[in-house]
Amino acid sequence: MIFSMLSKLAHQAGFTTVGELDTAGLRFSPEVRAMCAADRCGKYNKSWSCPPACGTPEEIAQKAARYSRGLLVQTTGIMADDFDWEAIRQVEQLHKKQFDTLVRQVKYLVPHCLPMGCGVCTRCRRCTYPDKPCRFPGKVYPSMEACGLLVSEVCQLAGVPYYYGSRTITYTSCILMNERENDHGNCKRTL
Ligand code: SF4
Repeated sequence: MIFSMLSKLAHQAGFTTVGELDTAGLRFSPEVRAMCAADRCGKYNKSWSCPPACGTPEEIAQKAARYSRGLLVQTTGIMADDFDWEAIRQVEQLHKKQFDTLVRQVKYLVPHCLPMGCGVCTRCRRCTYPDKPCRFPGKVYPSMEACGLLVSEVCQLAGVPYYYGSRTITYTSCILMNERENDHGNCKRTL
């Protein structure tokens, strides 16, 4: 019941694709986290939302084990060519804005949940990391990759595509929760 309501909210927020997943299939892998440590994006150890500050995959897996279901959302946009950085930036910004809206709505209905976004947190012009505490600790979530999730694998779990064809760009995020709020902390699945 709650999931059909949240799916509706996600579509209303503007996401192009919405899926549901069973968290039993999630793998929080140190290998995926190692890609962050390779620092190809230049954000490793530069934000409270990114590794190592966001916690180890083992710590995140322990938090995730409290939840049995997940809502996966995507924003897909069209690029003029493979190097259309402006379109890529716009779609990323739109996705993050939509995800912030959805997380606010979900937290209102399901206070115990675990959001995992995409990319580094861009809420502040300059992150306070590591000298001062995060300015908005309740509004920051790590990316799915930073948590050790392989996004393509999670898309498969949710039964939605990871790739929508040439000249498309897609950003993906998810929120883990329980069908019933009272199930928080009682989820018995093993890691
Ligand atoms: S909210 Fe600001 S201080 Fe906190 S992680 Fe994001 S950019 Fe850094």
